[in-house]
Amino acid sequence: MALVLQAATVLTVDAQDRLLRDADIRIENGAIVAIGQGGTLARPGDEVLDCCRGLVMPGLVNAHTHAATALFRGLAEDLPRAFWAGAYKVPGEERFGPADYALSLRAACAEFLANGVTCIADRLARMDQLGPLIEESGLRAVVGSTLTDGRAGEGWAETERLLERYGTNPSASRVTAGIAPHALDSCSDALLAECARRARQVGARVFIHVAQSAPEVAAIRARGHAGALACLRAAGLTGPDVVAAHAIYLDESEIEGWCRDGTAIAHCPASNLKIEARTIPLHRYAGQVPVGLGTDWTASDNAMDMFWEARLAALVGKMNAGDPTALPVQTMIRMMTVEGARVLGLDHLVGSVETGKRADLIVLDLDRLEMAPPHDHAANIVYSASPRSVRDVLVDGVVRKRGHVLVGAQEAALVAEMRSAGWGETALAP
Ligand SMILES: [Zn+2]
Repeated sequence: MALVLQAATVLTVDAQDRLLRDADIRIENGAIVAIGQGGTLARPGDEVLDCCRGLVMPGLVNAHTHAATALFRGLAEDLPRAFWAGAYKVPGEERFGPADYALSLRAACAEFLANGVTCIADRLARMDQLGPLIEESGLRAVVGSTLTDGRAGEGWAETERLLERYGTNPSASRVTAGIAPHALDSCSDALLAECARRARQVGARVFIHVAQSAPEVAAIRARGHAGALACLRAAGLTGPDVVAAHAIYLDESEIEGWCRDGTAIAHCPASNLKIEARTIPLHRYAGQVPVGLGTDWTASDNAMDMFWEARLAALVGKMNAGDPTALPVQTMIRMMTVEGARVLGLDHLVGSVETGKRADLIVLDLDRLEMAPPHDHAANIVYSASPRSVRDVLVDGVVRKRGHVLVGAQEAALVAEMRSAGWGETALAP
């Protein structure tokens, strides 16, 4: 049986950024098999989703997050930079056990789907145990288990288990494995080089936090590197198969070198601004290297909202460029979707609405006031839409949110689970 999204307005995000009106999208076995004139693609027995008041666009791609830390939301506000130095620990973190991380992850995945996110790059320690929960949620994902000098043994064992279970071929598995060294200061040069070698061997991407703080860069310099870029180059961690989150402490010559290397960036503006009060000059990288957007973890960006992330990236990006014409709407739409997919090595499969691609699609509700009037749908998406605009969500052709309601995951039930797990208002009181 096929599923047909009928009579939709479609923001394709294809190479020409075409907007289609009154179009049908036919989905079979999780793939888009035809796009045609409205009312022409449904056959008897097909399931039809009426989209005549809907705007179909590619699902949003979150290029950097830590879903299992969702329960940290609200535990670390307005802290000085020095608070985070090195460890990135939230107050009371020791009270969270494996069951809490698992609940956190299930809640985060549900929230992502509710918010129109269909694909995440997720990383944390013990991802070999958490990955299956992401798989169950229905999201598409690239997952990596954190490697540091302090937990290299466990980290490699978890990484190998992930590689064994999920492989690195996104055409064969909705969840795939990456290699995830934590950061340039928490990993020695030898460990970083080992990550590069293993990634090349198995065809995996490397996911790493880069130049997120001044103390991190100081630690790299103390090891004899000129800066973060030199450290990455020495380890063989440059180019589009490496995804660097943040990269906010790079100097002018490093920015130029970075663009020559073509290393991908997962840009997390809210996280950067909240805990470091600075972020990258996005206009220098956009169009030069693959750039996706990420929500990071809830301790440094409480929201899991990619609309908010894109809006912030555009507005702060314009400010940093000193130019209101920088980072136009279409650039931001691409960053939320197909560019994010390119960062993760998935743009041949998802990120645009085109025949042959997997059906990772969202339907925005054109009967919501923030989507009206429709003078410029793309501008509405970047500058006024929010998760409340997301009516339906499909991943791999499976409907995960329908008519503004999550399928199979009750939001209130998840919140109740948090309460009964002890995470009520007084859970962390002294
Ligand atoms: Zn992170």
